[in-house]
Amino acid sequence: MRIVFIGLPGAGKGTQAARIVKDYGLAHLSTGDMFRAAVAEGTELGLKAKQYMDQGQLVPDDVTIGIVRETLSKPDYQKGFLLDGFPRTVPQARALDDILDSLATALDHVIYIEVSRETLVERLTGRRVCRQCGASYHVAFRPPKREGICDVCGGELYQRSDDTPDTVGKRLDVNLRQVDALLDYYETKGLVRRVEGEKPIDEVYQQIQEILRGRPS
Ligand SMILES: [Zn+2]
Repeated sequence: MRIVFIGLPGAGKGTQAARIVKDYGLAHLSTGDMFRAAVAEGTELGLKAKQYMDQGQLVPDDVTIGIVRETLSKPDYQKGFLLDGFPRTVPQARALDDILDSLATALDHVIYIEVSRETLVERLTGRRVCRQCGASYHVAFRPPKREGICDVCGGELYQRSDDTPDTVGKRLDVNLRQVDALLDYYETKGLVRRVEGEKPIDEVYQQIQEILRGRPS
């Protein structure tokens, strides 16, 4: 089974991905993991990627795609994988198709965990962090016992500037445009399976299991 997994930040993708790879024995390939493995192996592309990451820069497409190509060509991943965080753009999606073509294989599903923009903003702006010890809370999902006060050390909780509605909204809109373009691309290939990501975690996973069982969605 070859899956591309798409979800915006806050959609719960990480939780679901962990369950899928465990239950279906798939290799979980996130961009970060692939970069780290290439760096650890000291491949030419890995070293290139490291130079960019060390400078806090985005790894360019040709390097990223090259690393994905080397990774997917390994015998370990011929049986199946869940790609997470790649492709992010339509050019990357085309490159992935080329890679899979050259391996005489293809994607089975592109799973999209769909969550409304409003819900994502609510989830992503609810985070509060302790000034003293760095413990992390969420006003709705993991509230402290006393509002604004850290359970661990009694320190003051604050909202990081990254988590304000304005910053979160801007970040999401950039991501949303990319995801829409990606979904359009995969829609023409009949690969997109939408999952209602606002349901409870177990129900979201049930929807995914039905897709993987091959029930038409
Ligand atoms: Zn604290």
